[in-house]
Amino acid sequence: APSAIDPATASAEIDLAALRDNVAALAAHVGPAALMVVVKADAYGHGMAVCAREARAAGATWLGVATPGEALALRAVGDTGPLLCWLYGPTEDLSPLVAADVDVSASSAEDISRLAAGAAVAERVARVHLKVDTGLTRNGAPEHAWDELFAAAVEAEGAGALRTVGLWSHLAAADEPGHPSVGLQLAAFDRAYVRARLAGLQPELRHLANSAGALVVPEARFDLVRVGIAAYGVEPAPGLAALAGVTLTPVMRLRAQLALVKRVAAGTGVSYGWTWTAPSDTVVGLVPLGYADGVPRHAGNVAEVAVGGRRAPVRGRICMDQLVVELGPDAREEPGDEVTLFGGGPEAPTAADWAEVCGTIGYEIVTRIGARVPRVYR
Ligand code: PLP
Repeated sequence: APSAIDPATASAEIDLAALRDNVAALAAHVGPAALMVVVKADAYGHGMAVCAREARAAGATWLGVATPGEALALRAVGDTGPLLCWLYGPTEDLSPLVAADVDVSASSAEDISRLAAGAAVAERVARVHLKVDTGLTRNGAPEHAWDELFAAAVEAEGAGALRTVGLWSHLAAADEPGHPSVGLQLAAFDRAYVRARLAGLQPELRHLANSAGALVVPEARFDLVRVGIAAYGVEPAPGLAALAGVTLTPVMRLRAQLALVKRVAAGTGVSYGWTWTAPSDTVVGLVPLGYADGVPRHAGNVAEVAVGGRRAPVRGRICMDQLVVELGPDAREEPGDEVTLFGGGPEAPTAADWAEVCGTIGYEIVTRIGARVPRVYR
């Protein structure tokens, strides 16, 4: 079937050389810890199958996903390497994960018994990473339930149902250097390891750090780091890559051809609600992407695009499929000329720039680029 948007008209260009360079730079930065590249949410909007393959080739020994469906989709495209899956609902059958040799996270004794049941169905030993909550207060066993989780794992190991491969947790605020949660979580993670060993477990992989931790908290690296956003060339927070001395290059460039260019007179209202009115005669251009494609509606009147080597402001509200930019009174652009919304080249805004003016984070900007936008790999 033809793609919903013609790739010449608009696309998310995915720069695989940039992805490989980022992964290689991160692997070198965190070594001797191993690198997991997180490819959940369609590789943060960049396309899971292709990015997974490139990330492995560039030095990611591990891949990480949230859901079982994502893990099985990776196996279906031929990925066979170490893979961790950490988020499933209370009624999901875990046996396909065990059968597909996917490592599974468990946060509770209940998770352990479900995983052991999955192992029995799959007729294999399940590989588990025990998730302890050290302060994010999201998934993972809270400290008062660590011993119960560890005892359940010991029992299931004794029954031959599973093997404890990892002990892991997730940081709450590593993107804010000096945040007190980081030290508290490191201390809690050490306590959890001691308690797991006292319970009789020997997890060979400890992992705690996300991109921010991998970049700027060396004590959080342990045996493995789980890096998502940085691999895609977006900083978890402004300045962290420079602080770490790591060069990251944006992987996604969201671009389109101008669909229409027109001269408007002073006083002309632009887009729904006329939230912007031209103060003087000018030229506007139509960009054929909108909020249905993941362009944030909050970008209306605040974001900028790059066109012809300069910046052009978004004028008026973002529509479902289109948005308007002001090219200026002396514009020479024509329909078909290239516009970069974000990413790609020093003159263009970054996803982080879009995030800042829209009151969000770069993660949300890239992950929300919709399925209608073709991904073009180069
Ligand atoms: N580990 C877990 C458990 C996650 O949920 C995520 C993503 O949010 C990551 C690692 C990667 O985080 P980041 O993209 O900040 O590197």
